[in-house]
Amino acid sequence: MAVQQYVYFQGGFVPAEDAKVSVLNHAFNYGTGCFEGIRGYATAEASDVLLFRLREHMTRLHQSSHIIGCDVKLTVDELCDLALEVVRRNEQHGDVYIRPLVYKCGTGIGVTMAGVPDDVTIFSVPFGKYIETEKGIRCSISSWRRSSDNNIPPRAKITGGYINAALAKHEALANGFDEAIMLTDDGSVSEGSAENLFIVRNGVLYSPAVSDSVLEGITRATVSTLAEAELGIRTVERKISRTELYTADEVFLCGTGAEISPVIEVDRRKIGAGVVGPITSRLQTVYFSAVRGEQPAYASWVTSVYKSAAVPPSVVASPARVG
Ligand code: PMP
Repeated sequence: MAVQQYVYFQGGFVPAEDAKVSVLNHAFNYGTGCFEGIRGYATAEASDVLLFRLREHMTRLHQSSHIIGCDVKLTVDELCDLALEVVRRNEQHGDVYIRPLVYKCGTGIGVTMAGVPDDVTIFSVPFGKYIETEKGIRCSISSWRRSSDNNIPPRAKITGGYINAALAKHEALANGFDEAIMLTDDGSVSEGSAENLFIVRNGVLYSPAVSDSVLEGITRATVSTLAEAELGIRTVERKISRTELYTADEVFLCGTGAEISPVIEVDRRKIGAGVVGPITSRLQTVYFSAVRGEQPAYASWVTSVYKSAAVPPSVVASPARVG
């Protein structure tokens, strides 16, 4: 029999089928929420699930909330405890994806956020590949520009902002590509629909600067650290022009969902030899072992689901609803 699934919702754990919002909900109507995506990886012997860079994700959730004016009543540590607890309650032992959201939960008409209450919800689902990571993917430059800091700030993971990503991804798939690469308003390379971007030129990694309308990705930071420490390759953050993609030795996208996804073609032009490049491949090897807790040097990046302490009762505000 399937295990009853729980969602953290309105201050307690409720059966997944009861975690529902009204059609009048502010965030549903206006996109006034922010979220995170966190992966959990089963260890090789499947005895545990390790959440990757949990604290960094919850810290970014706080920052996104701060940018859009949501008030998260839970601390970063409490959010971490709750994320671990969701996976435990759902008795998940394979690879998972955890989605915490902070959102405006009022039901009045009008976009003002003043006085509109906030809620936090966290759910977890089994999760495999989001995007191809072995053979390499084919990308196109999107006709949709990346939103910018003064319209819908990409630095915050804002629910409503993902229409920008959805339009780009949909267009790319409809045109027969695997993923979209988006340009900034001024026409330089920004990022994939839900991934950061790197290129390799003459043994150096380049990634668009944080001022180029990117989400400040946690995988992006991870890749830079691993490249420097394990491969002796430095990352330069700077503007990247569209045609630098065509002539780069290697291109790859990275993100929690996408992991490290080699790009072998952009706008029907081969990248390098049109196969997965050697630096991308070496980064993948070290990344995939770090996320499963197999690299002692990076043990602090993973948090054990089944060896962590139970969530303190004070964090679950409405114990009557605890399932
Ligand atoms: N850019 C966008 C727009 C994203 O949605 C994501 C996925 N969160 C990323 C980049 C990669 O960020 P991270 O590595 O923190 O998951």
